[in-house]
Amino acid sequence: MSSVIPIRSDNASGCQDAPVLIERGQREVFCGLTGIIWLHRKIQDAFFLVVGSRTCAHLIQSAAGVMIFAEPRFGTAIIDERDLAGLADCNDELDKVVGQLLQRRPDIKLLFLVGSCPSEVIKLDLSRAAERLTRQYLPSVRVLNYSGSGIETTFTQGEDACLASLAPTLPQSSDGAARLLVVGTLADVVEDQLGQLLKTMGVAVDFFPPRRSTQLPSVGPGTRFLLAQPFLADTARALESRGAVHLGAPFPLGAEGTTAWLQAAATEFGVSPALFEQTTRAPRQRAEQALSRQRTLLQGKRIFFFPDSQLEIPLARFLHRELGMELVEVGTPYLHRNHMAAELAWLPAGTRLSEGQDVEKQLDRCLADQPDMVVCGLGLANPLEAKGLTTKWAIELVFTPIQGYEQAGDLAGLFSRPLTRRLKLVA
Ligand code: SF4
Repeated sequence: MSSVIPIRSDNASGCQDAPVLIERGQREVFCGLTGIIWLHRKIQDAFFLVVGSRTCAHLIQSAAGVMIFAEPRFGTAIIDERDLAGLADCNDELDKVVGQLLQRRPDIKLLFLVGSCPSEVIKLDLSRAAERLTRQYLPSVRVLNYSGSGIETTFTQGEDACLASLAPTLPQSSDGAARLLVVGTLADVVEDQLGQLLKTMGVAVDFFPPRRSTQLPSVGPGTRFLLAQPFLADTARALESRGAVHLGAPFPLGAEGTTAWLQAAATEFGVSPALFEQTTRAPRQRAEQALSRQRTLLQGKRIFFFPDSQLEIPLARFLHRELGMELVEVGTPYLHRNHMAAELAWLPAGTRLSEGQDVEKQLDRCLADQPDMVVCGLGLANPLEAKGLTTKWAIELVFTPIQGYEQAGDLAGLFSRPLTRRLKLVA
């Protein structure tokens, strides 16, 4: 069963109040375990122990690639048939696995127990397990838990759940001094670039998640936070409950998005327009030049987004406003109107927005529209390519450093390359 419920509203400003096609049917998305791939690279003393099945282990291993010379910082405690049949005490088994792991890997300071579909089906209470194990292993190791299951979630929610579980453990800021917190996993190179720009403007900034769990930023009523990723609704709520205040802004994609994102911080922290312009001018111009080269290829091309990463709306805004692409449909798994307000205002009026998925119906619309490019998950890419459409894997956009000025050209390149390849194939 599926349903399509269009919501209507007048007085559109960009797409802020535009009607959204809401679909609740069959979905084609990866699960939240996928987030472990980029999270384990970011938090370098953390370990992610999936409590799941062999399927979960295969997913993580094939998505991350198999490391031969280094011990990985993720693994799977397999729930086998005896556990599923209730013949073994899963908690005892889990404690044993964790004990062996921590004994062998003293470098681990933060251990995440990551729930999966199987652990949720057998109702294994990982939050109690995490509390029990934290009592046992603190102060050397903290144990937290979150769900990466694919039941009713999409793959970027794994990061949201992970950071939301970490947020209550952040130290309370004692002095109440205003400080910026950038929230969401960024590649180290991007974090360094954005951090440098903010510091040059005199803005004191921390990043969450940090590179080491022993360097957790403090949070409190003086904290102002900017989201670096658009899929962090629960994390934002957890930070707000600690007194932090969200700064609304577009996301730092492209020259324009990055400027507006930095501007939100600059305005909040009283940076003068002259200092802002002086700090951002050179990298902004470099980004604009890189984009002008890609614009020739992408201008006027029609693009269709299937809902997958939750990056769809900021990407659509960037591709339309900075590269001249036409938006056929912009699908997103979830629409957070507050976090997306600035982005929606920048979409052209009349953009077809959809939330959720009914994959057969969406495929019908896509095939009828015949866009020049489709952004979708891996499962849809091959069938669509076979029908002559050019596709871009949504997951690549999460794995690749795309935020900030210096990455703007590379981000545009991710969209122009498949078109160039298709042109060569048909030539
Ligand atoms: S968590 Fe669920 S959807 Fe993800 S790999 Fe495991 S069984 Fe599959």
